[in-house]
Amino acid sequence: MRVVDIIEKKRDNLVLTNDEISYVIKNYAEGNVPDYQMSALLMAIFFNGMTKEETAALTKEMLMSGDVIDLSKLEGVKLDKHSTGGVGDKTSLVVGPLVAACGGKLAKMSGRGLGHTGGTLDKLEAIDGFNISIDEEAFFKQVNEIGVAIVGQTANLVPADKLLYALRDVTATVPSIPLIAASIMSKKLASGADKIVLDVKVGSGAFMENLSDAEKLAEAMVEIGDSFGKEVVAVLSNMDQPLGHAIGNAIEVKEAVETLKGNGPSDFQELCIEITTELLTLAGIEEPVAKIEEALESGDAYRKFLDMVEAQGGSVDQIATDSLAKAKEVNPYYPTSNGFITEIDTAEIGRAAMLLGAGRASKEDIIDMAVGFESFIKLGKEVRTDEPVIMIHANGPVKEVVEVLNKAIKIGEELVEKPIIYKKIRNS
Ligand code: URA
Repeated sequence: MRVVDIIEKKRDNLVLTNDEISYVIKNYAEGNVPDYQMSALLMAIFFNGMTKEETAALTKEMLMSGDVIDLSKLEGVKLDKHSTGGVGDKTSLVVGPLVAACGGKLAKMSGRGLGHTGGTLDKLEAIDGFNISIDEEAFFKQVNEIGVAIVGQTANLVPADKLLYALRDVTATVPSIPLIAASIMSKKLASGADKIVLDVKVGSGAFMENLSDAEKLAEAMVEIGDSFGKEVVAVLSNMDQPLGHAIGNAIEVKEAVETLKGNGPSDFQELCIEITTELLTLAGIEEPVAKIEEALESGDAYRKFLDMVEAQGGSVDQIATDSLAKAKEVNPYYPTSNGFITEIDTAEIGRAAMLLGAGRASKEDIIDMAVGFESFIKLGKEVRTDEPVIMIHANGPVKEVVEVLNKAIKIGEELVEKPIIYKKIRNS
């Protein structure tokens, strides 16, 4: 077999066989295929796409490139959730403890954030001492006893994805539905869960900016789940505005805690409840909505969060006394005119948070846990130039940040409103 023939076939929009996909991915992961050939193949896939069967074969080969986690030591149905990434997305911090408080088991391996979306691990590390790399035995024990653990991916989880993603990033081939679907699902399947809920973000702060592309991505991932015999539900949710009010690491942890106590912002709370309901339903847990309400009202969900923090070495005291890192200054941001918020460039809001130090522009950057936004910008909100809509928590100058915000928030006469959840796609 020759790689050049495989590239030629995809260039001409023909369907690759499982053997061809296996050959090229295995050899690329082993360092036998040069980047220039892999780049050409990625670009051909970007333009011509992949069939359902090709995408499943690509996912299989990627997931087999490294460790496949065996969760059989966990009792009951093993649940996992994944978000395609958005601004202010602290959903896992709430959903994990909430699932556990309702009798489910969520064993989650998360990633770090890069660019305008923050990662769950970074947020958890805003809590002093929180350890995201507990060993396997401690991980199983924690999930069995508490019902939830959130840890970092093992170093050897889908190494082919690390190589391919780095190459896609510099060859303008990231936004390809089969490549994104295989990248996400290979990591989810290698993480070993039985049933998965995917939060597919749609809008200006997401990979998929419109509903039709998001549906295609969701369908591709649900179909991959199907071909591996896993039940998968995709929830398509709104990312045309930041989720909830908090953007930034410590600030988001605080909002997650408030939400676990039943006092979260309505959009964020609705999304957390919806995702948790789907997870509990997949686990066969009856009356999920009533159980969730009870867990939020009784304080059980919040206590599960504290249990998780304690088990992973984090400071429970810091949470209980609201003493997570705080920025030196809090500056109000005022809208540029009176009217309704008609459009938000959410990715730019994320970039503004990154400029404050809340996110990474490159892998080496160090995050400032204290900085970020308390943001009250939502589509359809009526605003006035003398009423602040964002509180900027900063440890440095904010001039550039304000300029980005001014451009990112459009104000007009029209009342635009969008739901938090658009639809769900499932394979079961
Ligand atoms: N997230 C991933 O893990 N992979 C992609 O390709 C895109 C988003």
